Amino acid sequence: MPTEAHHGLAAHEVVMLLETDPHRGLDEGEVARRQERYGPNVLPAATGGGLLLRVLRQFHHPLIYVLLAAGTITALLHEYTDSAVIFGVVVVNAVVGFVQESKAEAALDALRSMVRTRARVVRGGRERMVPSQELVPGDLVLVEAGDKVPADVRLIRPVSLRVDESALTGESVPVAKDETVLPATAAVADRHNMLYSGTLVTAGSGTGVTVATGAETELGAIHRLVGSAETLVTPLTAKLNQFSKVLTVAILALAALTFGIGLARGQDGAETFTAAVALAVGAIPEGLPAAVTITLAIGVARMARRKAVVRQLPAVETLGSTTVIGSDKTGTLTENQMTVRAVWTPDGAEYEVTGSGYAPQGEIVHGTDGTVAVPRPRSALWWTLLAGAACNDAALTHEEGRWGLVGDPTEGALLVAAAKGGLDPAALPGEYARAGTLPFSSERQFMATLHRDPGSGGGTGHVVLVKGAVERVLPLCGGWLAGDGTVRELDADAVLRAAEDLASRGLRVLATAVRTDSDPRVFDEDVLDGTLTLTGLQAMLDPPRPAAASAVRACHTAGITVKMITGDHAATAGAIAERLQLFGDVGGSRGDAGVLTGADLDALPAEEYPEAVDRARVFARVSPEQKLRLVEALQSRGHVVAMTGDGVNDAPALRQANIGIAMGRGGTEVAKEAADMVLTDDDFATIEAAVEEGRGVFDNLTKFIVWTLPTNMGEGLVILAAILFGSALPILPTQILWINMTTAVALGLMLAFEPKEAGIMSRAPRDPDRPLLTGALAFRVVLVSTLLVAGSWWLFSWERAEGAGLAEARTAALNLFVVVELFYLFSCRSLTRSMWHVGLFSNKWIIGGVTVQALGQLAITYLPAMNTLFETTPINGETWLRILGIAALASLVVAVDKRLRRQWV
Ligand code: ADP
Ligand code: MG
Repeated sequence: MPTEAHHGLAAHEVVMLLETDPHRGLDEGEVARRQERYGPNVLPAATGGGLLLRVLRQFHHPLIYVLLAAGTITALLHEYTDSAVIFGVVVVNAVVGFVQESKAEAALDALRSMVRTRARVVRGGRERMVPSQELVPGDLVLVEAGDKVPADVRLIRPVSLRVDESALTGESVPVAKDETVLPATAAVADRHNMLYSGTLVTAGSGTGVTVATGAETELGAIHRLVGSAETLVTPLTAKLNQFSKVLTVAILALAALTFGIGLARGQDGAETFTAAVALAVGAIPEGLPAAVTITLAIGVARMARRKAVVRQLPAVETLGSTTVIGSDKTGTLTENQMTVRAVWTPDGAEYEVTGSGYAPQGEIVHGTDGTVAVPRPRSALWWTLLAGAACNDAALTHEEGRWGLVGDPTEGALLVAAAKGGLDPAALPGEYARAGTLPFSSERQFMATLHRDPGSGGGTGHVVLVKGAVERVLPLCGGWLAGDGTVRELDADAVLRAAEDLASRGLRVLATAVRTDSDPRVFDEDVLDGTLTLTGLQAMLDPPRPAAASAVRACHTAGITVKMITGDHAATAGAIAERLQLFGDVGGSRGDAGVLTGADLDALPAEEYPEAVDRARVFARVSPEQKLRLVEALQSRGHVVAMTGDGVNDAPALRQANIGIAMGRGGTEVAKEAADMVLTDDDFATIEAAVEEGRGVFDNLTKFIVWTLPTNMGEGLVILAAILFGSALPILPTQILWINMTTAVALGLMLAFEPKEAGIMSRAPRDPDRPLLTGALAFRVVLVSTLLVAGSWWLFSWERAEGAGLAEARTAALNLFVVVELFYLFSCRSLTRSMWHVGLFSNKWIIGGVTVQALGQLAITYLPAMNTLFETTPINGETWLRILGIAALASLVVAVDKRLRRQWV
């Protein structure tokens, strides 16, 4: 099937070409046949070319260059064993790096696909949702604002459609779409009658025919060109890369200096060069890049287990330094399980609604005496229930005895209330045929529909039904419906007071209004103005999520402020916030600076804006546009902001936030695309869990670094000392490589599996500008390095003085390094608490790693083959005792350092 030039054909020609039906779509049998023929609608995985590149990338590291150079020169000096060991290390390092990187990427990919895209199709005349990978050419696809286009589609019926095609064309301004025929030569960016896979619908809706799927799409073509250019760079890895570049230069300079000093002292050229190489390879922390990737990847997996899917790796570490979480109210802090609890009508009557959930079982009773209220047709109560249920796009379902809902929970609650009042929601669309709709949006905050009115004189009239936010509906009204059924002058204050009263109980309030005898020919927002009649208010309960309150408390303890951002009424939001203890220690309450509305925000002078935003905890009646400014203001106050969002218009705020968080269930594809993290359960508590994991990941990275650096410094210094004092090298380059490689993999990496420390959520967020190593930790690194240098130097000299050969003394020094590192590993499991505090055996991985390392040491000390390769030789029990003694002493010193610091700080 030709994929080009569909834009050059008329819509009906495309329909014919693809042998489909513009209204009924393909039938299921044909879909199955085409699925067989065209395969799934997915992009192919990265190909072999990318593989080679990825292998090569493992060698593209300044530290590796140094090793390669060292290996080559060593070979030129005919030191073949040394050279082989060095190259061996480079290869092992590359393999480890490659495997880890692939694993991390695969994990990220798998996580991303957990957030599955679905497509709305018409097949066999029925509309339904299918996973987008099941689409085939010829499928009739429906899209609307918020969707990601699932395949390449020729439009046949667009309705004010606008699409963000930046993924394809780089043009960030959304383009308008229509169905007109274009010249066959039109460039992709100009094909206004086509929708391309991977682009995002920002407004309107449309129907079209799928013309290409999977690799055949334009996106597929681009994908083939670039391969998968996924990078695993985060602010931290960038910092570390920078660090290793500086380190490399410093090490090279030092190595050159060593070489120079050695030569100046008249030492043998080849020997001095070996020493310089030893210094270089020793001082390089080879395991660092792999450890960072692995720790991050483990963090990603842990977060996924807690229902937070990370889309961008940097989010893992940024989460740990979050200081403000801006959260939607409805559905994130609350359950989004709405039940109408009260109805108010202009005659001042208040009704209670009994029953719970979506089951239409319950009654509407008078608030005063509890007697059942029977809504008289065309009374205020009746119109209020009717407007709520007919100006409505949701539907109740009843399957296997259980009541459920398709659509918006707010609307579902209104259907249930109408049913409890004796109306039949299912019959309404038939009785009151709809002739027009102004859909609800977060900007408009109300919805209006135009219907045929069978109850009008002659039954041929039309009625407009409106429901929405009180403040928005009220200005549209010119009167209200009094108790006697006549339209009277409106008392706006009375309505607002009633709404405020309901809202202050934490209820979500919607006003309803009608206009009978409407002209069906004109129906837009302008004609409504001032012509409606207010019929009443409905107030619904949306309980806070059970885990939300404790999650909010946990955030407060962790120094993170939680702010609620909602389109709902200030009093409703304030009441829910109070129930969630959102105001925390600021003791704020609704009415004062703790709650700001969108109007308050707009009225603030620019210079007071950031401070006021920083102080407030609840933002009510806020439009998505205002969210972006909120994020920017908080960031200008130095905050690291995590912000949730679900709609198309939330995307800019999600991108601006340090962590954009989208809802996996209730969110649009556009929001998910803009987010760094997706919550698969939409629950606020999940954000708190992710922050906790983020902190844990950062802790573990710090632990690894604090553990690994002393080895490198110690080795470098020992060599330097040997050159300066003109002594034989206490450890050889190959032995240094053995230490670095084996301990990094068997010991250091196990720190990535460290469970989170207790109290991780009772300290302040990490300042992102704070250096990786604080003064105390830098001191500890220097301390342990010094202990290593002093210990190994003393042991080496002692063994030599006792008459041990060079190989034997070196084997002792080599083992000393490893045993000290092994002991020190237990200390690094907590940076502040003692190693006994975390429990010696609480991380099984560490125990396993230590065992492997111990066996490795026995092998390199006692196996003849290893002895030859690494120039080692067996050592005796007394030497082992000395090694263990020194290591124990070093541990004691570190423990004292920790203990004193705990006391002082
Ligand atoms: P949030 O999601 O933060 O609760 P929304 O933007 O959904 O805020 O709603 C804002 C206000 O718009 C609500 O307080 C309610 O009065 C009104 N509203 C919400 N949903 C609908 C709807 N489906 N139809 C009409 N009005 C609605
Ligand atoms: Mg909402």
